[in-house]
Amino acid sequence: MHQFIDGERREGSSGNDMPILDPSTGRTIETIRLASVEDVDHAVAAARRSFPGWSRTTPAERSAILLRLSAVLDERAEELMKAESANAGKPIRLVQEFDVPGSIDNVNFFAGAARTLEGKATGEYSPDHTSSIRREAIGVIGSIAPWNYPFQMAVWKVLPAIAAGNTIVLKPSELTPLTTLMLADAAAEAGLPSGVLNVVTGTGRDVGEYLVGHPDVRMVSFTGSTAVGKSIAATAAQTVKRVHLELGGKAPFVVFDDADLDAAIHGAVAAALINSGQDCTAATRAYIQRPLYADFVAGVADLMSSMKLGPTDDLSTDQGPLISMEHRDRVTRKVQQAVQDGGKVLTGGKAPGGGLAAGSYFEPTLIVDADQKSNIMQEEVFGPVLAALPFDADDEAFALANDTPYGLASSAWTRNVYRALRATREIEAGAVWINDHIPIISEMPHGGYKGSGYGKDMSQYVLDEYTQIKHVMYDATGSSTRPWHPIVLGN
Ligand code: NAD
Repeated sequence: MHQFIDGERREGSSGNDMPILDPSTGRTIETIRLASVEDVDHAVAAARRSFPGWSRTTPAERSAILLRLSAVLDERAEELMKAESANAGKPIRLVQEFDVPGSIDNVNFFAGAARTLEGKATGEYSPDHTSSIRREAIGVIGSIAPWNYPFQMAVWKVLPAIAAGNTIVLKPSELTPLTTLMLADAAAEAGLPSGVLNVVTGTGRDVGEYLVGHPDVRMVSFTGSTAVGKSIAATAAQTVKRVHLELGGKAPFVVFDDADLDAAIHGAVAAALINSGQDCTAATRAYIQRPLYADFVAGVADLMSSMKLGPTDDLSTDQGPLISMEHRDRVTRKVQQAVQDGGKVLTGGKAPGGGLAAGSYFEPTLIVDADQKSNIMQEEVFGPVLAALPFDADDEAFALANDTPYGLASSAWTRNVYRALRATREIEAGAVWINDHIPIISEMPHGGYKGSGYGKDMSQYVLDEYTQIKHVMYDATGSSTRPWHPIVLGN
């Protein structure tokens, strides 16, 4: 059963089945019965019923349940890693070192952060009144997650929402529902009351849109593509919902001529290929100051061609498949388009044959000589594809880095502290790494500028997104006539 509603697994009632595939082999892992809009209604109703009780639990009570959740997830880490690796096509090394432990750390962080909610001081801002701020949960949150980091995205959506006292209905990507359902099972085992966390599995069009438009959902939190994010914001506007959008990226990777070239080459390949490049913060556009350009592209091409593509359960595999054959074909078309637009493929550029042909693999790819205004430099590919261009002056690098509709993440590589400082100021993105690219940490916010969306995930800042503040004003005079009444009532 592949829905989790009101504290238990249920069968979807749409009558439509969908196979869940292992993208490394194309084989079906299991078949799910998708949710219908009636299932969404049940899930939202359960979340609504549980809200008064859950929002009035103390931070300490919520924290205790989240700590137990972390312990249950720890016990099931192996199972989670296997399921995530098979369903999302991730090399086992990645889920062991990144997806699962990082997500459990995030659960631990929010177990602590639940106890830090606070407002500003109570005080007299007018001589006749005392004001205070109440920070309150919002209500039922409708969340929609993508397929690239299914477990991590579910944790990023669920944990801050419930730590702050909200209840939630989460729709994972229809391609990757398995570990999100396992998260809900673990939460129930940890003692999370029924209805606080609900999971509906179905397509965006059938179930996602309905959840976003649901009148009893007070806030929508979405991670996915910019195109879908725009339509979600438009739908949510009809019912004046708060909207939190984590959208696509096209991260620049800027290498100045004083950089450690070897570190930059390794950094670029790791940051372009992580999760087969299906990472919203992946390095996608490398701009290299001309003196280092030739050596940089030669080094990247060399390292990329030595990456081992292989079965996801093999510890020696560096790169797994893309999420689906459809996505592989999309990435192929984008690379072909880049070549038609004048780009040159230095390595990769196609799906491998042989034993890997049954999976949706794509070779690590480096493209040079593309026009800055062409699609390969401007639009998300979401595959293991890096495009590199040279630059001369520092100002030119910052202009190029900012020259896309996106602004999620970026990096600058230099040993000059003033250049580094300038990069942190000049680049329009929600994150700027200096001499690294990719690492994230629970204490620090993740989220975009520009077309990459608004709203932050992780960190204390996210608690502002999932709470609303109320002004409470007390008369402080105790007199029978309020001092301002004569303005209206006369003497
Ligand atoms: P997507 O936008 O196609 O789908 C994301 C989710 O939205 C899925 O659950 C899907 O079913 C649902 N959906 C689709 N159409 C919908 C609609 N009309 N109404 C409601 N829901 C709908 O994205 P994807 O292909 O699953 O994921 C890849 C994208 O996610 C990339 O653009 C990537 O950059 C982005 N992403 C961003 C972040 C971030 O933190 N900014 C993190 C991960 C992924």
